[in-house]
Amino acid sequence: MPFQDLPARLAEVGDRIEQARVRGGHGQVVTIVAVTKTYGPDAPVAAWDAGVRDAGENKVQEALEKMSSVAVPIRWHLIGHLQRNKVKQLDGFHLVHSMDSARLADALGAAGVARGRPVDALLQVNVSGEGTKGGYQPADVAREAERLRHLPGLVVRGVMTMAPFDAAEGTLRSVFRGAAESMERLREAGHPATELSMGMSGDYEVAVEEGATLVRLGTVLFGARAA
Ligand SMILES: *Cc1c(COP(=O)(O)O)cnc(C)c1O
Repeated sequence: MPFQDLPARLAEVGDRIEQARVRGGHGQVVTIVAVTKTYGPDAPVAAWDAGVRDAGENKVQEALEKMSSVAVPIRWHLIGHLQRNKVKQLDGFHLVHSMDSARLADALGAAGVARGRPVDALLQVNVSGEGTKGGYQPADVAREAERLRHLPGLVVRGVMTMAPFDAAEGTLRSVFRGAAESMERLREAGHPATELSMGMSGDYEVAVEEGATLVRLGTVLFGARAA
């Protein structure tokens, strides 16, 4: 059976999330998004069978291929950078985590208008300022939140961020707190922003302590990805 360790790994991760949630004291509900990129279609199926209801992919094409061969009604999240010419291919996705620029936001809104159903998206913030990471600068979020209020076809559900790989705990905390502050800016502008997508295999406990509602977990559930 593929991914036979998955139920035990999920149980362990679930315990750790619950302990972190209590330690953090934010009282949020935490949902695991099982990141199935690079694994075959058997990964989302195994996740579904183990009780996971959300799967994450970082490329549209790979996700669409997987969706077409996966029969379980798992919810698909797009977590990787999205090119504007692919915004018409999002019908199968529940949530786009990676709205990382004003131009992409405009394209997502236009696609939502064209299809007659808004696109649900999270605003990606680059809190650490690393050049290799996409996303809005935290200082720009308040102004963009104002602008997005008037953009039809898009519903901004919250914020996504990625912390630097292997960062010290203090750095992780300041990144995750920065994301939470960006979510406050969205709320102040009137957006229905309740989702904080932060935390991966190496840092999800700190993220949950800092209020994460969506943790994006790949290797800790499925094992190392082939390079
Ligand atoms: C791959 C990926 C993850 C999951 O990474 P792991 O370290 O395997 O848990 C989470 N978020 C994004 C945006 C990713 O690309």
